[in-house]
Amino acid sequence: MKYVDEYRDARLAKDIARQIATAVDPARSYHFMEFCGGHTHAISRYGLADLLPSNVWMIHGPGCPVCVLPIGRIDAAIALAMRPEITLCTYGDLMRVPCSNGSSLLKAKAAGADIRIIYSTLDSLSIAEAETDREVVFFAIGFETTTPPTALALKFAIAKGLRNFSIFSNHVRTPAAIQNILESPDVGKPGAVKIDGFIGPAHVSTVIGTEPYDFVAEKFKKPVVVAGFEPLDIMHAVLMLVRQVNDGWHQVGNQYIRVVTTFGNEKAQSEIANFFELRESFEWRGLGEVPYGALRLRPQYGEYDAEKRFRMVTPAAQDNPACECAAILRGMKKPADCKLFGKVCTPDTPVGSCMVSSEGACAAHWIYGRFR
Ligand code: SF4
Repeated sequence: MKYVDEYRDARLAKDIARQIATAVDPARSYHFMEFCGGHTHAISRYGLADLLPSNVWMIHGPGCPVCVLPIGRIDAAIALAMRPEITLCTYGDLMRVPCSNGSSLLKAKAAGADIRIIYSTLDSLSIAEAETDREVVFFAIGFETTTPPTALALKFAIAKGLRNFSIFSNHVRTPAAIQNILESPDVGKPGAVKIDGFIGPAHVSTVIGTEPYDFVAEKFKKPVVVAGFEPLDIMHAVLMLVRQVNDGWHQVGNQYIRVVTTFGNEKAQSEIANFFELRESFEWRGLGEVPYGALRLRPQYGEYDAEKRFRMVTPAAQDNPACECAAILRGMKKPADCKLFGKVCTPDTPVGSCMVSSEGACAAHWIYGRFR
């Protein structure tokens, strides 16, 4: 298949691996964080870590929207969904995330809440149009990739005059999280996480471009390479990072030139800006409060903002104390460091979000048999 098979060519992967092996300085180590869970899955699925020299380490980052959503936000959604007039629409990967008191959206649905799995923001609009006696709330999550469809759903809802549709916005921002990681006391100090560069998610940069990462290079002196999700994309990005580190460079590189540009999709950005504004702070699981880490609806669209419309409250909630998701999302630990991994916690019986989501690091390691 065009653009797929050619980026999964084992012969070329081995050739890039040889170039990486030739390029690395054996006297030093290289630590690169792949921000996105999509990259984490590809690295596990294709065994890419096994192709890298022993002094090149991949660190899993927090780029999984399900994993980084604090339990309290899902608790709040469940409380809303239990109201008799509410229909909560959400994507399927949120349904099994364990919440407070052993609950989950799936269990709330079994208990009678009207929670529906949708495949598109437009599905929630169709439900609102067809069932005008219901208050239809779209539980919106995701990075910059999924924000434009939510903006368009709101645009269409306004155009159609839908009064029974609202959005519970949990859209988060990639550059803000990278800044938070780089400013964390866990990074860069002796004995803490070492990060020599980042692999940035291509789908996010399809929307925002590469330019929003310039501060990483300029202020924090770390290289970033925006890369696609096929194995050759990732191997190529590692080679680009190794070369930058060797040369003492810290620039924003674009490996995914077949789609990503410097300034991204300006039409999509305009639609986002029309309907969303920055939150001053937003809690990320694992990272804590991230300044400007998420988006909310602009005040003029308050009637479509479920948090305002239904006076939603996000309760303080604790993760399972044995779950290491928070440390994994900060790059401090690997899934196998968690004593529950593969024992109590598996994809069939997930204890934490990193095992639930298809983009979670624990799920990736378990599914593809990566136990170290
Ligand atoms: Fe949490 Fe399960 Fe991962 Fe352990 S294995 S960190 S309990 S999701």
